[in-house]
Amino acid sequence: MQRVLVTGGAGFLGSHLCDRLVREGADVLCVDNFYTGSRRNVESLLDRKDFELMRHDVCFPLYVEVDQIYNLACPASPIHYQFDPVQTTKTSVHGAINMLGLAKRVKAKILQASTSEVYGDPELHPQPESYWGKVNPVGIRSCYDEGKRCAETLFFDYWRQHKLRIKVVRIFNTYGPRMHPNDGRVVSNFIVQALKGEDITIYGTGEQTRSFCYVDDLIEAMVLAMATGDDFTGPVNIGNPGEFTMRELAEKVLSLTGSRSKLAFEPLPSDDPRQRQPDIRLARQELEWEPKVNLEDGLKETIAYFRRLLYAQ
Ligand code: NAD
Ligand code: UDP
Ligand code: UDP
Repeated sequence: MQRVLVTGGAGFLGSHLCDRLVREGADVLCVDNFYTGSRRNVESLLDRKDFELMRHDVCFPLYVEVDQIYNLACPASPIHYQFDPVQTTKTSVHGAINMLGLAKRVKAKILQASTSEVYGDPELHPQPESYWGKVNPVGIRSCYDEGKRCAETLFFDYWRQHKLRIKVVRIFNTYGPRMHPNDGRVVSNFIVQALKGEDITIYGTGEQTRSFCYVDDLIEAMVLAMATGDDFTGPVNIGNPGEFTMRELAEKVLSLTGSRSKLAFEPLPSDDPRQRQPDIRLARQELEWEPKVNLEDGLKETIAYFRRLLYAQ
């Protein structure tokens, strides 16, 4: 039985990953400091013998015995990662050092949840893994972007220097059930606003684009990346190449919820990337993966989740 550590396992993506790993027969250790995640996300796993939840901050050393590590610990939405930016960089950098040190000691395979933010406000479209990005090192998004870039550097140096088995996946915008309702991300914001009949807040003109991947597709790609041969390190983009403007997303959410909310235009936050779309040729080739869930079907699932959540509240 594989012993698998998931850091950030009580968060949005982490909890779906824990579900999937337990279902596949792994013995899962979920480590989380509950900064943005919660016990509720893994509630259905708490009674199981093959699942353990540990409250711990990855900025501090962790001594456990495992075969694989998925390193997801890090707040992911701008509101949360900008709330305590120093802690955000510490989580990415000290967290990576500790998890790499752990992987080195126990000879575990380790996967880093990196991000499309390493490309910053890209000049190349869509973004291939070979693109080095255009990132502001001193802006309000830098704690996240540069923290994640430094974590990638650490992964590749542990690979070169200590021959660690590493996998780096660059995740593009992902959505689905268990997103935090107040995390300020566009999909959760629009759905919650539509369901409550509040204005839909579009930042800027709404012409900026994003490419949204449904959570199930994303988790499938992460598990496939972990299972690749030792010679494959990534970085590999995972995301859905379907690209939409924020205005199109708002219209879609309005039509799927049947809401009469109005569009309200607000200022664009600084350093907000104008466009983003993954080039997933490498993932197609190396993981034999591509996303299956289209935006409309994924939004329906996510809307159903938020409806239940708001009703329960
Ligand atoms: P999330 O905020 O729901 O999950 C992050 C989890 O990490 C939370 O449970 C939080 O409590 C935990 N955490 C934060 N700091 C910690 C620390 N110091 N020690 C231990 N636990 C800590 O976000 P998510 O969307 O599930 O993102 C998971 C990972 O995927 C993150 O690393 C994020 O950067 C990456 N990612 C996500 C997206 C996306 O669209 N969701 C896109 C790119 C990258
Ligand atoms: N570390 C950890 N768990 C372990 C092994 C190491 O948390 O099982 C931490 C350790 O505290 C150290 C970091 O990982 O700060 C990096 O470890 P490494 O062995 O690479 O470096 P060193 O200990 O030589 O600084
Ligand atoms: N956005 C928006 N209204 C909102 C929240 C976000 O128009 O209520 C925009 C935001 O400015 C950005 C895009 O939607 O251009 C995606 O934002 P999100 O925070 O979800 O992800 P990221 O910017 O990290 O890709």
